[in-house]
Amino acid sequence: MDWLPYHDDVVPEFCERMSSFYSHFKAFHGCRPESLSSYFKDGLQGQNAVSIIQKFRSLFADIPKADLEHAIEQMQHREFSEKGKIWLSGDDREMLANHGHYIINGSEYLLALAAKLGVGSGTEDYRLRLRTIGIPTVLEVDIPIDLIPPAQRLAVAKMVLSEWGQLRTKRPLGMSSSLGYVVRSDIPAECIKAHYHPARVRDFHHYNATYINKTLHCEFCHPAP
Ligand SMILES: [Zn+2]
Repeated sequence: MDWLPYHDDVVPEFCERMSSFYSHFKAFHGCRPESLSSYFKDGLQGQNAVSIIQKFRSLFADIPKADLEHAIEQMQHREFSEKGKIWLSGDDREMLANHGHYIINGSEYLLALAAKLGVGSGTEDYRLRLRTIGIPTVLEVDIPIDLIPPAQRLAVAKMVLSEWGQLRTKRPLGMSSSLGYVVRSDIPAECIKAHYHPARVRDFHHYNATYINKTLHCEFCHPAP
């Protein structure tokens, strides 16, 4: 922001005007739901460890109970720090390239629980079991501005000004200006504007560097195949 005179004053003022002009910020949410129906009925709901743990117990019902309880206990610190939060990205292309693990495995919390189980007595990597349920999905979401914390709104203002400056001076910095959002409240269903099922996602948890998704349509896709 050094190029911008009086940027200490200008940036907050720009942010304020931008936030009163626009009603929503566009973002994308990566997930792997068993059905999209709850999203269209209840919207996006903040992280709820109780339902994640319930799914963990049913998905790994064949594992000794003591091992499951040990994993749950080790993750307890995140149960409170992440409660009620929803993570979104400002750029879906960047999400697919750099942090698409929510799309491949579903909830990061569930992935971490599975990782705590280690590797099975055979050679089963328990984390890969998460890839056998659900459908890899990217939701396009218009987040109401009131739900976005002020610091994240300021980051958007800085990004817009920075991009504008780079374009205006024809001096691209060549770095990603993608933003992440952490929203601490539920996002209503009407804010979900579209969705799709990506065919390829960069995979950091597998020896194959690209995850290939063969389920490209669901019952809520328009138009249906
Ligand atoms: Zn679909």
